[in-house]
Amino acid sequence: MIKDEIKRVIANAERLNPTLNSFLSIDSDVALETAGALEVSPRQHPLGGIPIAIKDNICTKGLRTSCGSRILGNYKAQYDATAVKRLKDAGGVIIGKTNMDEFAMGSSNENSAFGPARNPWDIERVPGGSSGGSAVAVASGVVDVALGSETGGSVRQPASLCGIFGLKPTYGRISRYGLVAFASSLDAIGIFGSSAGSVADVIGVIAGRDPLDSTSADVPVPDYHSMLEHELKGKRIGVPRAFFGEGLDEEVRDSVETAIESFRGLGCEIIDIELPHAKYGIAVYYIIATAEASSNLARYDGVRYGYRAENATALREMYMKTREEGFGPEVKRRIMLGTYVLSSGYYDAYYSKAQKVRALVRDDYRAAFAGCDFVLTPTSPTTAFRLGERSDDPLAMYLSDIYTVSANLAGLPAISIPCGLSSERLPIGVQLIGNYWTEGDLLNAANIYSTNYPLSQKPMISAE
Ligand code: GLN
Repeated sequence: MIKDEIKRVIANAERLNPTLNSFLSIDSDVALETAGALEVSPRQHPLGGIPIAIKDNICTKGLRTSCGSRILGNYKAQYDATAVKRLKDAGGVIIGKTNMDEFAMGSSNENSAFGPARNPWDIERVPGGSSGGSAVAVASGVVDVALGSETGGSVRQPASLCGIFGLKPTYGRISRYGLVAFASSLDAIGIFGSSAGSVADVIGVIAGRDPLDSTSADVPVPDYHSMLEHELKGKRIGVPRAFFGEGLDEEVRDSVETAIESFRGLGCEIIDIELPHAKYGIAVYYIIATAEASSNLARYDGVRYGYRAENATALREMYMKTREEGFGPEVKRRIMLGTYVLSSGYYDAYYSKAQKVRALVRDDYRAAFAGCDFVLTPTSPTTAFRLGERSDDPLAMYLSDIYTVSANLAGLPAISIPCGLSSERLPIGVQLIGNYWTEGDLLNAANIYSTNYPLSQKPMISAE
């Protein structure tokens, strides 16, 4: 039975992939073998054979991990990331690896070396990024859950643009062993789901301390599933009104305002709050993230991984040619920006200043959570944009992250919940940010909200 189900899922993935390009590899042999083995002892496995898609920057033993980049070429990891290992041990079946912006740098999936994934609600539009392929795999109904990664919004923003749930957990909640590093003080594994319940199932299995990742926290993992039905009555939701101004699409604003009223109707108390430093979030993020990336990406030198340029006569030339040919333009832009903000004459003006402002952003949230349980904002300022629309304007692209980056800077958990469709039938998402370690409360709120106000329509391209 499990095997038949996995066969069906793989057939769907293969049928839709020429249109949606959400998978970079589909692993039918191993998936079917795993499914067969699970049929022998299904009860011992909490996930019971569910199919799962994994972003291509999370290592899977023996299966290609490209990070959406030419420079990793055909790189196959020697080991499974801890999150992947825990999923497998719990009876999850990995069916393939998903498309992404190169090294998770982007908000549209257009920076992939393997072509963009497409939004199943409108294939002329982007699915968001950087975890676009995972979002599409769930939104198109191929799988119910997928792993992605977050540095500045790469799970929540594509979840919002594709009409599904996307959770970024507290920094340190899920081991990052085997997640290819982008910006280490921000990176987190995140989860996409077709429902809050499916996200709860997966986080319950993969969260928790891992001796292989010293930044994973030793905080007990609750039974997330048992928290999904708690009443929301009396929960205080803080709304930073300043976030609802310039740059926010009108239809998104209306839909999020309606969601606020719906939460009120569910018994929540809505209060106005201020996050005075959040407006510096984008500037701070693009200094810290690029600085850390310039250091993390130094390891791709043509010696240790994947691609190596040919026809180089000396070592230095080999490094330079490999990086010139292997990295795409956005990655090069980030490495240059990051190297610049770390350089001796500019370190204090940029990097060190950004770290100070980051502390202020964190303090804003600390103050806010003294008076409320959740902070509510739109997830993305617009619905899905057209392919190519922002490719030549990096700044416009960076602004896609305006509502998401501050949770990464502060290390807080946050979730994007589908809350409506625009007049063009494009999904809109509302974001809830919680205090540290409150993933269970966020999933609870997402579950109660969406049971009462489900998205009534399905995407244009769907496996179902
Ligand atoms: N879009 C943001 C960026 O380009 C966030 C990426 C991410 O969260 N990985 O950096």
